[in-house]
Amino acid sequence: MKAVKNEGKEKIAQAKELDKNEIGEIKGKDQSFEVDRRSVYKCVQCGTCRSVCPVFNVVGWESANTRGRMLIIKSLLEGMPPSEDVLPSLASCTICGICAVKCPAGVNPPDVVESARAELVKCGVINNSQEKLRAAIIASGNSFGETKDRLSWLSEAERSKLPEKSDYVYFIGCFNSYRYPEFAKKTFQILQRYGVTLLPDEQCCASPLLRTGFREDAEEVMKRNLEQIRKVGARTIITSCAGCYTTLKNSYPEEFHIISLPEFLAEHLEEINLKRLDLTVAYHDPCHLGRHNKIYEASRKVIRAICTLREMKNIKEDSRCCGGGGGVRIGYPEISLELARKRLEDVPEGIDFIVTSCPLCVRNLRDAGGNIKIIDIVELVAMAME
Ligand code: SF4
Ligand code: SF4
Repeated sequence: MKAVKNEGKEKIAQAKELDKNEIGEIKGKDQSFEVDRRSVYKCVQCGTCRSVCPVFNVVGWESANTRGRMLIIKSLLEGMPPSEDVLPSLASCTICGICAVKCPAGVNPPDVVESARAELVKCGVINNSQEKLRAAIIASGNSFGETKDRLSWLSEAERSKLPEKSDYVYFIGCFNSYRYPEFAKKTFQILQRYGVTLLPDEQCCASPLLRTGFREDAEEVMKRNLEQIRKVGARTIITSCAGCYTTLKNSYPEEFHIISLPEFLAEHLEEINLKRLDLTVAYHDPCHLGRHNKIYEASRKVIRAICTLREMKNIKEDSRCCGGGGGVRIGYPEISLELARKRLEDVPEGIDFIVTSCPLCVRNLRDAGGNIKIIDIVELVAMAME
């Protein structure tokens, strides 16, 4: 009995020690930084994630699957010097999150990878393309380094009518502002009737910075947006980009209600007055709307109100990543495109369009080629409003 008691005490002491050392340090060139040691040590190296990691599926290196990434991070914690050798493994994760869903030990590898990336950045171990992305965001406020007006898709008349104060802000995002202004315009036209306004000098939401480890820079651009949102007096922010959604929801202060465009549309279906279209479409779940935030049904409800939905092979929690996220599109474009090509293999026969609700997914899936047109959900809604 006494032995059992002592054993129990020992375990509690060990657990306390683990709590105390919860944050481990990786020693860099002239920096040291922190990773959640408990998350790393929770990984029992079972390899369940190996079969689902889309990057591993494409490249086939052990170090490019979740288990390999966790092992490398563990080695860094245990004294391996950080160097560029770890980048192909740690910077090529799309943060898709399917490994976290499947992990029997309850590890959240995308969180661990993001923390490790932040630590590598502090040590000066950086993927060059991701560094260029960082520099573009800081200099121009957008992920493309564009210098033209972010609201150039808005007419002068529309701009002059923007309310200075509003409960609602439509947060456009870099992709919709500069690559798909037609999505921004269509979204704004739907939201306008609810009195939404736009930020006068919207900046990148900071998602690419957070995903790639540039946390200090992310704070800077988030601050620029926050000042404007508070000035407008908005309590609700609506966004049509999955990357912006997850960042606004999970990284900005909790004082705001963040709503994705599919959720907003699903809530207001009756007021929007949509007609039925003779179309059959498939829906691609963006990782940052679906797995990361569990928004699966809103888009499907909107689609079903308009036309027939025929599901893809892997959907909702099991949806395969388009390859665009986590800085992989810019850092490892070939891997990114190959992931998109693989995703297109999941498309069912006999559909007119693939619909999604993230401009980055639209872009990556379009770039992968294929015969089926990829559209954003706002385009489908606009067709049903004509
Ligand atoms: S499934 Fe979880 S515990 Fe198993 S190797 Fe992957 S991260 Fe580790
Ligand atoms: S988040 Fe996705 S890409 Fe990254 S390790 Fe997990 S399964 Fe692989």
